[in-house]
Amino acid sequence: MAQSSAPILSILWAWYRQYGRRLPWRVAPGDVPPDDHAYRVLVSEIMLQQTTVATVLSRYGPFLDRFPDLPTLAAAGANEVRDAWAGLGYYRRAGLLQACAQSVMEHHGGAFPQKAAQLAKLPGLGAYTSAAIASICFGEAIMPMDGNIERVVARLEAFKEPLPKEAAKLRKKAQKYVMGVDTGHVAQAFMDLASSHCGANSTNCPTCPLQKLCPVQGPDALKIPQKQMKKPPIEVTWHLLLTHDGQRVIMERRGPGGIMAGMLGFPVVDGPPLGAYYAGSITHRLTHRMITAHVYLLKWDQQTDKTAPAIVKDCNRATLKQLPTLMRKVAERSGLFKV
Ligand code: SF4
Repeated sequence: MAQSSAPILSILWAWYRQYGRRLPWRVAPGDVPPDDHAYRVLVSEIMLQQTTVATVLSRYGPFLDRFPDLPTLAAAGANEVRDAWAGLGYYRRAGLLQACAQSVMEHHGGAFPQKAAQLAKLPGLGAYTSAAIASICFGEAIMPMDGNIERVVARLEAFKEPLPKEAAKLRKKAQKYVMGVDTGHVAQAFMDLASSHCGANSTNCPTCPLQKLCPVQGPDALKIPQKQMKKPPIEVTWHLLLTHDGQRVIMERRGPGGIMAGMLGFPVVDGPPLGAYYAGSITHRLTHRMITAHVYLLKWDQQTDKTAPAIVKDCNRATLKQLPTLMRKVAERSGLFKV
């Protein structure tokens, strides 16, 4: 039987007012949004794609310090934006975020479009992010459906069809939760309930505010939503060469396409380099790839090597901060970096 949304929303709203997360990009219920609310939500939503709230919390403030508003981000150098993205993963997002800022400046006079359908035409904004900005910042009655909100709605609706195949059906059911209400806060309440009680691999139904109204609980809830089988990740092997003089190390900026595009890193070489010291291996999981990185150290002989390397960095904490996570793990494994 289809759930009525009113009792659920009433309980959820009361719970959210009391227990909703206070996050730096959020406006608490009753507070007046700042003029740059959409910019702040945009940055947070792009950062939160595939990255945990805890990680984003440590990066969001420094990023906003460096790019405090849309015009500053739009006008910044591409490498500067990528470097500020270090540690967040999915580095392509940094370029897309900047392209989005540039498009809003160039085609919309610096003011975000207010409807999800218009926002979705901006670079880097998919259906979820567009709906999140439109609902949270501009009050459009549209539910942003990411994996977390999908999961809670699917359980409240006892929706047993597989996702993502039947996602459109579930999206339709979710709309009743945002009709005639404070849309943005409702969406954020769903996000918070997903995080605090209704997890993908564990639920805390006995303390869930919606427990009395939810048709599936405990082990039954964990079977929903039904997921289609995912493909296993592609195995990738890298040999990474750290040529160093004990204080500094040679680095390169990766090419414009592929894994960690445009980010700083250690050169990837074809195989175990001659005369280099093998410092161990690490594995690093990306969404679609499992990278095994073998780490090699080579003494940089500046007397005989007259070719000037393009990028030389000090082996210190400041350099580590500019590196994507895999390269930071490699740097730490090398033992070269004093932090
Ligand atoms: S009762 Fe359990 S399954 Fe239902 S919404 Fe709450 S945590 Fe999720």
